[in-house]
Amino acid sequence: MAEPSGDRAAAADAAAAADGPDAPGTAEPLFDRVALIGIGLIGSSLARAIRRYRLARTITVAARTEASCAKARDLGLCDLVGTDLGPIVAGADLVVLCTPVGVYAEVATAIAPHLAPGAIVTDVGSVKQLVVRDVAPLLPAGVHLVPAHPVAGTEHSGPEAGFAELFEGRWCILTPAPGTNEASVERVAALWRGCRSMIELMDPKHHDVVLAITSHLPHLIAYTIVGTAVDLEEQTRAEVIKFAAAGFRDFTRIAASDPVMWRDIFLNNREAVLDVIQRFNEDLTALQRAIRWGEGEALFDLFTRTREIRRSIIEARQA
Ligand code: NAP
Repeated sequence: MAEPSGDRAAAADAAAAADGPDAPGTAEPLFDRVALIGIGLIGSSLARAIRRYRLARTITVAARTEASCAKARDLGLCDLVGTDLGPIVAGADLVVLCTPVGVYAEVATAIAPHLAPGAIVTDVGSVKQLVVRDVAPLLPAGVHLVPAHPVAGTEHSGPEAGFAELFEGRWCILTPAPGTNEASVERVAALWRGCRSMIELMDPKHHDVVLAITSHLPHLIAYTIVGTAVDLEEQTRAEVIKFAAAGFRDFTRIAASDPVMWRDIFLNNREAVLDVIQRFNEDLTALQRAIRWGEGEALFDLFTRTREIRRSIIEARQA
């Protein structure tokens, strides 16, 4: 998806300014200097939302490659950009990790000596127990860690893929450890409310179980189905891709998601994912049996129940 045109962005800015005195985006910026480590789909969407709603005075950005830094510069996403993490986080009152979760320990090691006393470190990663394991022990005393996960995304990657509206009406789950500085938790919540998200607080272990079933398993199934179809096409010369029907096409969209990001999610939410795969296998076996023995009623009952779930997601405006 592309950045909104100048006209749309200007209209949205005007709307933000007209939202009233209590609306996010109209008061003093929440942060003086926000550093985003990683400027892909999520980092660049956050940069755009921070700009649009004036949530920070200055945005600094780090990426791994010069190519992504150049794109961030060309797209006007930030005030300072580079591959060297030290100068990017120096003086920031908020640092947001927006990289794949597999490099969190490496990134935390690199930024730790440069963090300002009292700074808040947060992230956007899809797995949350790993933040406790890989990031918390590396941060200096006096820096506040408030892990977060915006439950919003697309199958696209990179700085051009982001858009300011990505987080609108979506949940952002915060998983601070007990005893975390409350003002810091509130400031991170305010950032996401400023991006028009809704906030939920959760224990990191519970988060990882919930997301294993709602997000990680569906992605694994999509990767499996598309992989199976491609293998079948090779083996049987059936025209699977040519005649891709709606169901298969939807799976191919999900299975086009970033391979690095998803590899890291599965490797770092191993326990919860293996648990839900076990449950899924049992349910799939029950369906297999129902088909084999012609138990139409069992199939009809399940398909009717699942249809209701879709309706409730639409009613909750999360479709
Ligand atoms: P992405 O589009 O692939 O972007 C990743 C960014 O991280 C790139 O800018 C990359 O730089 C940078 N990066 C990678 N390794 C780095 C390192 N060692 N040091 C500095 N920068 C580094 O990924 P994304 O979709 O935005 O995902 C980012 C995070 O958001 C992940 O943790 C993911 O779990 C989470 N998340 C994703 C979604 C989604 O739907 N995509 C939804 C919610 C949460 P280069 O481009 O230079 O390599």
